Amino acid sequence: MLEKIIVVSPRGFCAGVERAIEVVEKALEIYQKPVYVKHQIVHNEHVVRSLEAKGAVFVEELEEVPSENIVIFSAHGISPAVRAEAEERGLRVIDATCPLVTKVHLEALKYHREGLSIILIGHKGHQEVNGTMGVVPMTLVEKVEDVAAIEVENPQKVACLTQTTLSLDDTREIFNALKKKFPKVVTPAGSDICYATQNRQNAVKELAKRTDLILVVGSEMSSNSQRLVETSIQSGTPAYLIQDRSAIQGTWFTGVRAVGVSSGASVPDVLVEGVIDHIKRVVNENVVVELLEVLQEDVQFSLPKEVQGVTVNPR
Ligand code: SF4
Repeated sequence: MLEKIIVVSPRGFCAGVERAIEVVEKALEIYQKPVYVKHQIVHNEHVVRSLEAKGAVFVEELEEVPSENIVIFSAHGISPAVRAEAEERGLRVIDATCPLVTKVHLEALKYHREGLSIILIGHKGHQEVNGTMGVVPMTLVEKVEDVAAIEVENPQKVACLTQTTLSLDDTREIFNALKKKFPKVVTPAGSDICYATQNRQNAVKELAKRTDLILVVGSEMSSNSQRLVETSIQSGTPAYLIQDRSAIQGTWFTGVRAVGVSSGASVPDVLVEGVIDHIKRVVNENVVVELLEVLQEDVQFSLPKEVQGVTVNPR
């Protein structure tokens, strides 16, 4: 019988996602609608739908944006080629790329200028990886087995970068294999895996010690949400990724005394509240709800100049 729901913190929105959503909301207040956004501003359908309702139009290709209109680049970042295309088309750009993704782009430029071959650990096809790989030439590595096949001009001059939302443990494994093959491989001083990804994974590890099942609220498209599910399973606690309360199945709770709840960095807390309500209604209305606060976050990023100094109505 389910006795407890433990909701972990930190979870949900990170500073980069908060900023990206605020950029779109402020642009909708300042500029004539519609405001175009290239790609989902963050990987969460709920967020995207609510911004669409306010006048945002999400597109995948710049050619879908009429000339001279505003286009916002999503939190995942963009390759220089897309930036140049926007300029050529005369589009007015507002860049909502997370500053921690921009940091990776700048590291790539620096290593390239220094003549190093760059290896990027990441997931092929992810929006962030597409953007980073467009900055300078680099080789993508997705798993340990890929390392053996990597060929570089000079094995003494290699640098390694990573996507910001990877699994800490899997990345360490891949990096160790790279280090074995290229003992002089250089990396940036701080990890490219961002603070929010690290904190949420560490919090899930603590949650896994106290629960029989973990539900991670997040989108299939969200890399950091998927990594939270993997982190839980690798810690020995089964886990499911759920978009929202509608995905929950009653059979999951058989033999479960404590269920943990976390959420990806692009997930609004209203969806977590919906999940808790649903479990109470369907599984046990007397279940105790506890908060497990593993650490506090206080990271904030300033807004792009194009949308500074405007107050937006609360969501
Ligand atoms: Fe930035 Fe990390 Fe949030 Fe991505 S998950 S938007 S890199 S803070």
